[in-house]
Amino acid sequence: MNRLVDLNHVLERARVHGINATRLEAKTPTVSLHPCPACLNGYDALCEYDGFGVIPLCRGCEDGPAIAAALLADPPKPPASSESTFRLYTPGELLAMPAPVWLVEPFVREAALPSCSGSSVSTSCSRQQHGQPIRPAWRCT
Ligand SMILES: [Zn+2]
Repeated sequence: MNRLVDLNHVLERARVHGINATRLEAKTPTVSLHPCPACLNGYDALCEYDGFGVIPLCRGCEDGPAIAAALLADPPKPPASSESTFRLYTPGELLAMPAPVWLVEPFVREAALPSCSGSSVSTSCSRQQHGQPIRPAWRCT
């Protein structure tokens, strides 16, 4: 969605960004945002609904399109905890990784932690799994 559809949409996007949003009793349906999601400099923004669309206003930045863009943008991701044992990779980092070496293509990758259940346990003594050859490291001797 590349535009603010209505004031419920404004309220939902404000909640996603942690911006205080309040419906105002006014002649024109309006939501007040504190702070303005575009300039964040202490000014409040107003989003009015004129029956056709949402009109964002701010006396600080006077940049309605920037307010809408800030509300529609993905919220910033929280920084990874230094205690986390998992690292998030960017799409570019994932694409730059070497192709996997398969022990049982396309089910069990080398240097991975596979999980087997049921009849798959017999795989360790088979020469094939689902018609795919099994590399020697995976076979019983
Ligand atoms: Zn502003």
